[in-house]
Amino acid sequence: MTTEYEVHAIRYATREGRRDHSFIDADPHDGPLPMDYFVWVARSGSRVIAIDSGFSRAVAERRGRTFLRCPVESLALLGIAPEQVGDVVLTHLHNDHAGNLDKYPAARFHLQEREMAFATGRHMRFACCGRAYELDHLFEALRLNFAGRVEFHDGAAEIADGITVHPGGGHTPGLQFVRVWTRRGWLVLASDASHYYENVESMRPFRLVFDVGTALDSFRALRRLAGGEMDRIIPGHDPEVMRRYPAPDPALEGIVARLD
Ligand SMILES: [Zn+2]
Repeated sequence: MTTEYEVHAIRYATREGRRDHSFIDADPHDGPLPMDYFVWVARSGSRVIAIDSGFSRAVAERRGRTFLRCPVESLALLGIAPEQVGDVVLTHLHNDHAGNLDKYPAARFHLQEREMAFATGRHMRFACCGRAYELDHLFEALRLNFAGRVEFHDGAAEIADGITVHPGGGHTPGLQFVRVWTRRGWLVLASDASHYYENVESMRPFRLVFDVGTALDSFRALRRLAGGEMDRIIPGHDPEVMRRYPAPDPALEGIVARLD
């Protein structure tokens, strides 16, 4: 029997946004569309797997984001200490997904080999590719690799029974998304393979995209791995997630949502 996980999203930052910043083909007068920042956590008994690690307050302030809470310390809201996290899946190395790595003393980190190659490669000289990365985050990832704590994957891989990663490139070449077995079946944590529900629903990539064709292929992969059921896909930045899913406790309304 496949291991079943409970899955939560933690909202740790937010910012004002506009629709024309969120779709490659949107009308420039389209109106506001806020962006939320999340990390996700899958738990089955004592096994805890974090998906992405967010940014710090300092990065948020420098980039003009509204920082709400430390994404790693917020695990305490679910009764989880960072020391209990055995695996961290990094969907990609963008600043809002791959900071705070030093706050996980016991974790192995899972990353696509292509993502590290891209983030340390020739395209970083161009601001449109490089500015979404934080050099300090990359240094920390390199440090962890030298310490033997990074598991590189080349395509789909099983992280644990009931948790797999899948290539979801386009936004960045080495992006991976995560599929988790839950009480309602397979749940697909898209991360930035689909920032908003509308990206995958309307097959229109987010504006920051390295390869449009691959981004479209990734939308199809998300749909396929969700068994064609759109409500099993969790987008990476959509405030709608907090409205569609219940808080595990009324005090955590708008902060934590249970997804499974
Ligand atoms: Zn992101």
